[in-house]
Amino acid sequence: MGRRLLSLSSSLSISFCFFAFLQDAVFLVVANRNQSLTPTSSMPINRDLYHFSGDLMEHIKALVHRHPGKLTMETIKSRNKGYRAEISVITYFRGGREYDDRSKFRILLSFGQHGRELITSELAYRILSILSEEQFLPNMDPTSLNSTLDKLVIKVVPMENLNGRRLVEAGDLCERRNGRGVDLNRNWSVDWGKKEKDYDPYEENPGTSPFSEPETQIMRKLALSFDPHVWINVHSGMEALFMPYDHKNTTPDGPPSHQMKLLLEEVNYLHCQKRCMIGSGGGSVGYLAHGTATDFMYDVVKVPMAFTFEIYGDRGASSKDCFKMFNPTDLSTFNRVLNEWSAAFFTIFKSGPHKLGEVHSKVPVSTLDKGVSIDDYLDGYLMERSSRYGKKMEVLELGMQEIRTYFRLFLLSSVLLLFMFCSRISKSKYNRPVISAIPL
Ligand SMILES: [Zn+2]
Repeated sequence: MGRRLLSLSSSLSISFCFFAFLQDAVFLVVANRNQSLTPTSSMPINRDLYHFSGDLMEHIKALVHRHPGKLTMETIKSRNKGYRAEISVITYFRGGREYDDRSKFRILLSFGQHGRELITSELAYRILSILSEEQFLPNMDPTSLNSTLDKLVIKVVPMENLNGRRLVEAGDLCERRNGRGVDLNRNWSVDWGKKEKDYDPYEENPGTSPFSEPETQIMRKLALSFDPHVWINVHSGMEALFMPYDHKNTTPDGPPSHQMKLLLEEVNYLHCQKRCMIGSGGGSVGYLAHGTATDFMYDVVKVPMAFTFEIYGDRGASSKDCFKMFNPTDLSTFNRVLNEWSAAFFTIFKSGPHKLGEVHSKVPVSTLDKGVSIDDYLDGYLMERSSRYGKKMEVLELGMQEIRTYFRLFLLSSVLLLFMFCSRISKSKYNRPVISAIPL
């Protein structure tokens, strides 16, 4: 769909609903992204409502330290061609080691994949506060809540795109991409790199190859090792509950797809007053998105329930006013969004395992079957081991480089030894001229 239309103010209101779609690819296509995109008329970040990224992560860290029996946190770092990224992952589980208990229902949630969607990371903090019982949902029976949560392991990524978020905080309020201009929701391998007619690199740059970005690499490894039953990629720009696919305008066939839709309908009815758009990302809005995280989670990681939630959008905001377009700007709306959507997530926690029923025993993802390189396999393996023994990821990152090198050297020397051994045998025992069996 023609994102260029966006610059035509006359058609803005009509085109908004087309463009706001999940990865909110859109908006602001206004020309020059190298210039400051924060004209004086646009609203700055409301600091009475929104944390600075550093403060938010500090609050989350403190929360984790206050609840060591329920929450743990790890920070995973990666770099590529001089570009560094880090992602913090908070794990919620009660009693026991989550990796030792694969019988639990596993949920992976990611927030803040696009820098300008600040509200999503505030929602992550709210959900973690409720999980740690420092805040409470109205109308939620604590006994029923506890019996629900006992069965779950929940991993929360509060801010997937920290570098992009920092650019937004430095004044580029319309930035959705990572710290070097790649859209982290176009950098995954399913249908990667395909460009629609109205492709705009300032919004949807997919990177130089699938998983070219450290953030996407970290998320892929996290998903492959955790192997979740539910994945939710949380965005803002509109109100919608999307399921696969993003790269085509259909939903998958079969019972899991039907269960996904039932769950979304329940959430829409209970928490969105039926305002939310439901359906496949690609089919609901009218244009397709290629290389998205949710399509990868569904197709490759085989997550039976893979979603993209769009939790807020202001249709009346100017296309230049990105803070307002993607984030509530007054206290009552801010609180309403956080209250409604945190309740929606707890509905997912409760209903997800029931809806999935027999599919609950999900097909485990086989990393080697998915064409993952030996490096990725080792990384995924080591990530799991490190989590099991509670080591810090950053320490292991250096170790992994060395292990990879040793592993390669070991393979190389084994091949050389084998070659020498064979050639010796052939000389001593089978010392006869080699005759080619193939005629000229
Ligand atoms: Zn987004």
